[in-house]
Amino acid sequence: LGPAITIGEILVEIMADAPGLGFLEPLALTGPFPSGAPAIFIDQLARMGASAGIIAAVGADDFGTVNIRRLADDGVDVSAIAIAPQHPTGTAFVRYKPDGGRDFVFNIALSAAGEIHPTEQARALIGRAGHLHLMGTALTIPHAWPVIQYAMDTIRSRGGSFSFDPNVRKELLASPDFRERFAAVLARADVLLPSGDELFAAAPAANEPEAVTKLLDLGISEIVLKRGASGATVFTRAGRYDATAYGVEEIDPTGAGDCFGGAYIACRRLGLPIEQALDYANAAGAIAVTARGPMEGASTRDMLEAFMNNAGRM
Ligand code: ADP
Repeated sequence: LGPAITIGEILVEIMADAPGLGFLEPLALTGPFPSGAPAIFIDQLARMGASAGIIAAVGADDFGTVNIRRLADDGVDVSAIAIAPQHPTGTAFVRYKPDGGRDFVFNIALSAAGEIHPTEQARALIGRAGHLHLMGTALTIPHAWPVIQYAMDTIRSRGGSFSFDPNVRKELLASPDFRERFAAVLARADVLLPSGDELFAAAPAANEPEAVTKLLDLGISEIVLKRGASGATVFTRAGRYDATAYGVEEIDPTGAGDCFGGAYIACRRLGLPIEQALDYANAAGAIAVTARGPMEGASTRDMLEAFMNNAGRM
């Protein structure tokens, strides 16, 4: 039924080699690493062997090329990545603080990432897609909303499915535009992949079971709750499936949720049952945190199977 596609931001991440505070003196840096939550998600999905595509925009620069090459090499359809020559590809400079937190310097708002328009290539990709995956961050991209609406309508009318990863800071929910879009997307999703408290951003409730019931009543058929180092749970009308996390050493948590989601949706697209999809996704999230660099931790299906056969559970 056609590829799984996503719409959203592409950027590069550049990381300080040593932990410390901020960027106030000259530092040794490593990068550029391909990044952007939707890009990481779709790369992981493609590495699993599922058909994949992305609608995005990059600048006419090496940072854009790094992303396009990586995604194309991993099997993602990059025909709908537009080149916006007036804007640079977005950047995120990252430095780990001694306490494990992170300092960031972002240039995304003014970057090419905002230049998502209903191009001929975007419409063509939407026209052949069988699944749409959206992330909350895409709802804030200035011109992208009409493209997102068109994709939701078109893919749904072809009998395709729709997943949503809120991937969102609570502050954003204060914006009326964002709130309205968030609700519109939630009302149409088949699969929801919240992380921690995002469950309650999607369904305000006193506790987890109450939030889950609200979301199932809204018509969501699979709620895939990511719990970081505590693993993950899938809730459906028929019952729940729990997975405890694989035991790994956390090096860089960036991208874990995106790799988890990419592996989960890939497995479901490939026809695997929920329990198996959850196991692969849980392994993909665990491997992602062991690799430095946001997309560097994305795994192939073979890598996941080798890991799952060898690894112990926490
Ligand atoms: P997000 O990145 O969206 O906040 P999480 O931090 O919950 O998502 O991570 C997504 C998934 O990755 C988890 O549900 C789990 O399967 C896996 N994961 C994350 N952190 C760890 C960890 N420290 N050890 C093992 N698995 C992890």
